[in-house]
Amino acid sequence: MARSKLIKERVPTPEVPVEERVKSFVEVNLGYDFASAVKEAERCIQCPPEYAPCIKGCPVHINIPGFIKALRENSENPDEAVKNALRVIWNDNTLPAVTGRVCPQEEQCEAPCVMGKVGDPINIGKLERFVADYARKHGIDEELLKEFISEENGIKGKVAVVGSGPAGLTCAGELAKMGYKVTIFEALHKPGGVLIYGIPEFRLPKEILDKEIAKLHELGVEIKLDHIVGKTVTLEELLEEYDAVFIGTGAGTPKLLNIPGILLDRIYTANEFLTRINLMKAYKFPEYDEPISIGKKTIVIGAGNTAMDAARSALRMGSEVTIAYRRGREDMTARIEEIKHAEEEGVKFEFFLNPVEFIGDENGKVKAVKFEKMRPLEERDAKGKRKIVGTGEYITLEADTVIIAIGLEPNKIISEEATGLKTNPDGTLVVDENLMTSIPGVFAGGDAIRGEATVILAMGDGKKAAKAIDEYIQKKRLPA
Ligand SMILES: Cc1cc2nc3c(=O)[nH]c(=O)nc-3n(C[C@H](O)[C@H](O)[C@H](O)COP(=O)(O)OP(=O)(O)OC[C@H]3O[C@@H](n4cnc5c(N)ncnc54)[C@H](O)[C@@H]3O)c2cc1C
Ligand code: SF4
Repeated sequence: MARSKLIKERVPTPEVPVEERVKSFVEVNLGYDFASAVKEAERCIQCPPEYAPCIKGCPVHINIPGFIKALRENSENPDEAVKNALRVIWNDNTLPAVTGRVCPQEEQCEAPCVMGKVGDPINIGKLERFVADYARKHGIDEELLKEFISEENGIKGKVAVVGSGPAGLTCAGELAKMGYKVTIFEALHKPGGVLIYGIPEFRLPKEILDKEIAKLHELGVEIKLDHIVGKTVTLEELLEEYDAVFIGTGAGTPKLLNIPGILLDRIYTANEFLTRINLMKAYKFPEYDEPISIGKKTIVIGAGNTAMDAARSALRMGSEVTIAYRRGREDMTARIEEIKHAEEEGVKFEFFLNPVEFIGDENGKVKAVKFEKMRPLEERDAKGKRKIVGTGEYITLEADTVIIAIGLEPNKIISEEATGLKTNPDGTLVVDENLMTSIPGVFAGGDAIRGEATVILAMGDGKKAAKAIDEYIQKKRLPA
């Protein structure tokens, strides 16, 4: 059979025009429709699954050529095509509407795609997102879910999951599918972890997330909100009632800048700022009770995903925004798509500036930030980033609002309360190759063991831990 011609260019996805989107929190990227998704799917040359580099590049090893094939095989029957594609995806990933939107595909599945050698890699993330969105809109996910509901629900044992971020949600879903009765304990009043309180609506609409979480209820998972493990209930108490525990508490404690002026008004951590906006919907104040005070000129310190989200949110609240980063453009850790969107929307960037002091006005409000200018060295640090040194030169930039986004670390509520739970010096939990902590029967994954990482790595841990928990419980049940 003659090989069809390689199509080098991606089928583009439409986006809301800049002038419209900066005024609201609507989702920026509109995704594919069925015809354009099939057109993009047809560019895939269908590498054999045992070799396909895209599968190797995906941390949960979705059968990517498999779902792409399902999509284009039934191009006359969209519902059937999507159902088959979703079945393939769900085998490895139960939150495709989320990962299709927030994964750094350019570093994962799309980086090694062979089509990338002759043109654009296949737009795997947007195809995954299309399958999930179409299925949700047409009730196909409801139908398919029935295939995954375990008749054994609750029979194999009881597991407690602490934290409802991507790690906890995935671990809970996998265990429920295996026949366990799972209860999630979540400190906040809404489930989702960073997906609900960190990542803004314009990247991940909360209605979509709520739907993804509702699937878990149908699988038989119970979610107890407003439960802080280590305070409301202890780890010891959970171990008395459950056969095993999974800790997916993330890395939600912001790192602070210990410099003069840090306590001035209108200096936020990105966590507080984004929680008010996303979780408490302060951007809809006074319709919602939560207020937020933002001035005319905002400086965001940092250049990761959190910094981009905070900057783009402040912009949508009517402020002029500058991102100040102590390293260079190529050292930024945020996703390329997010940096591009921030720039298009008018966020300004200043590089090689390290804050040394916040300057306040007579009312105790921040009015400027003093920075030392930095210079890059040839040497690289452990993470491969260029090292920097101060030049001894200073610059002061005006700002009536400052958002600090310089990183996050695990919170210590559980490790400080539970005796025998070992942690590393950076506060992450110590686990073995099966993700079991130093307490038998207690497993952990996601940012709680890695520090600040990614959604898909947290989900991969949740899945791996679910398998290890199943083996642990079954082994414990065997007569000695
Ligand atoms: C603003 C922002 C943007 C990001 N953007 C991206 C992105 O685009 N792509 C990407 O891949 N990654 C992104 N990340 C990183 C990603 O969100 C995290 O790596 C991921 O959410 C980690 O998942 P997790 O389940 O381990 O923890 P989390 O999502 O942090 O969830 C932990 C949950 O545990 C709960 N909890 C904590 N302690 C307790 C306790 N003692 N008892 C009960 N519950 C508790 C918390 O309330 C929370 O709901 C971003 C992070 C931030 C902050
Ligand atoms: S590597 Fe690219 S072309 Fe090959 S199967 Fe994966 S998506 Fe298709």
